[in-house]
Amino acid sequence: LPELGPIKRVLLKLSGEAMSGEQEYGINPGSLKSTADQVQEAVEAGAELAIVVGGGNIFRGSQVAEALGIESATADYMSMLGTVINALALQAALEERGLQTRVQSAMQIQEVAEPYIRRRAMRHLEKGRVVIFAAGTGNPFFTTDTGAALRALEIGADALLMAKNRVDGVYDRDPRKHPGARIIPRLTYMDLLSEEISVMDDTAATLCSGQGLPIVVFDILKQGNVRRILEGERVGSLVW
Ligand code: UDP
Repeated sequence: LPELGPIKRVLLKLSGEAMSGEQEYGINPGSLKSTADQVQEAVEAGAELAIVVGGGNIFRGSQVAEALGIESATADYMSMLGTVINALALQAALEERGLQTRVQSAMQIQEVAEPYIRRRAMRHLEKGRVVIFAAGTGNPFFTTDTGAALRALEIGADALLMAKNRVDGVYDRDPRKHPGARIIPRLTYMDLLSEEISVMDDTAATLCSGQGLPIVVFDILKQGNVRRILEGERVGSLVW
């Protein structure tokens, strides 16, 4: 099987958990800092970095819609707005470090973010700016994982980096619950669609599979991981 080798342009998918850490809700200062540290290291290593942020830490629409008597579509839009909050927090943390950033949103919120314009996003990347994509795909009934796969393909990313927190790859069982769980270093796209493996939803997996986009599943909290992936080192699990 081929190895990935050194790569330059990547799309980093951060879940809401990368912002909230151990806490149930909101943005944790320590988590925001360590996530920003990893991003900074990747940019300083020469990466062209685009980021898609999740929103589960702000509002998890699918889980609360019914309890609140809110339609799924509305709840999903509320969740997408949550990703905008995360994007702005991440942008602030990165700019604090002197990095150049732009937020592009799939929902129009012109006071705080540029609209998503593919060619403009690519131009930002060429200039060394970190582009943060907010509001997922802009459509309800999708996930930010699907948004990440979609944007990765649109910008011609060399790989989609699926950042996990405290899990360093894909395991045969949940390693947080089963001490005997074993890491799977290499997977096929078909594996992604199997019941036991939950790296991303099937829509996102199908998109990646159709275009042969390499996916790296890794622990973002481990110092140097993003840089090592860029240099072509094998980190976590590779789907390709
Ligand atoms: N969402 C959506 N369309 C999108 C992206 C996200 O409707 O294109 C909604 C959906 O309700 C989703 C929520 O936003 O559950 C938050 O995204 P996700 O669950 O992917 O965030 P994460 O789990 O990565 O924190």
